[in-house]
Amino acid sequence: MTVAHGRPFLAIPGPTNVPDSVLNAMHRAAVDIYTGELVGITDTCRDGLKKVFRTEGRTYIYASNGHGAWEAALTNVLSRGDTVLVLESGRFARGWGEMAEVLDVTVEVLPGDWRRAIDPAAVEARLKDDRDGTIKAILVVQVDTASGVANDIAAIRRAIDAAGHPALFMVDAIASLGTMPFEMDAWGIDVAVTGSQKGLMMTPGLGFVGAGPKAIAAHESAGLRTHYWDWTAREGEEHYQKYCGTPPEHMLFGLNEALRLLFEEGLEAIFQRHRLLAGAVQAAVSEWAKGGALDFNVSAPDERSPSVTTVLTLNGTDPEAIRSYCEDRCGVTLGSGIGGLSGKAFRIAHMGYVNAPMILGTLGALEVALKALNVPHGTGGVQAAIDHLAAGVPAG
Ligand SMILES: *Cc1c(COP(=O)(O)O)cnc(C)c1O
Repeated sequence: MTVAHGRPFLAIPGPTNVPDSVLNAMHRAAVDIYTGELVGITDTCRDGLKKVFRTEGRTYIYASNGHGAWEAALTNVLSRGDTVLVLESGRFARGWGEMAEVLDVTVEVLPGDWRRAIDPAAVEARLKDDRDGTIKAILVVQVDTASGVANDIAAIRRAIDAAGHPALFMVDAIASLGTMPFEMDAWGIDVAVTGSQKGLMMTPGLGFVGAGPKAIAAHESAGLRTHYWDWTAREGEEHYQKYCGTPPEHMLFGLNEALRLLFEEGLEAIFQRHRLLAGAVQAAVSEWAKGGALDFNVSAPDERSPSVTTVLTLNGTDPEAIRSYCEDRCGVTLGSGIGGLSGKAFRIAHMGYVNAPMILGTLGALEVALKALNVPHGTGGVQAAIDHLAAGVPAG
């Protein structure tokens, strides 16, 4: 028996749900790439990205996914033999570091805990030890999509300042931009990277980089620059040069509409919506955890991401059985555990174009799965989510 036939729900942490108006904006004929409306759309999108990154710096749009944006960030500011410090939290900062290693950059990892946010004091201590300034850049993710942890980027900046260290501060905001505050200039972030398919409500296929003045200065002498990613080449006069070739036109039409939706709702309202929906998910998981078979991966409540929740399965509970039930029987696709949490967790995404019925529906289907599979759980998870939203979204 199945009750899955209806609109499928995608609750994985990227790609996320794309609004119909964004899809519709892409459904049209191609246009000229040298003159006309596309030139204006490029300017509007680059400006819109500045508003989302909260920077007066430059922004670049690549026909790539997040990994492309990672490579763009590294190659534009570093040289072979440079050393970078990767602040470990979960899977993704390590992945960015592995990419740097392939580029012949020396990577040092400041070890972290998969269940906790990065400790700014440990960052400060390591940087104070680097007396001759060997470390050229610090790589960190705001939200680690594997562990579900949200790092305090402003606090890490304060730690770098307290150590008086000159390294570039490079932040991956791929799973956080458009879901929680991000202040590129106010937090002294030199390079910010993100992708189109998570909080920004677009299809996969675009990578974005923000570059501040210190990064632009480092770019002048960076030895790893290659033509496709190169910021200077992309500042050329011709519209064609902005993309180092044919612009990804249809994705730009979609991005333009996604950014319009973002500003129409307002960034503050978007962050508040994510806080409320994440709170509803956390309220449900807290109840379910009372049965002893499930737990939050991130132990400290204030370190949990507003965009994705990683739920550990304990005592032999199979996360894939829960995921399969939700998908095959109920039509909701959850994320699986990845990296060190493969086979030990599942993930509930609540980022981007999501509202109360999507989250309550997802939580409801999960509670059906727990009951049908006889996974010991505290009942009333969905009720707790309802109570959370009723309190947070008062009438009138
Ligand atoms: C998804 C993700 C990436 C990788 O992005 P792709 O588009 O899959 O290349 C990198 N970092 C974080 C934090 C992510 O969530």
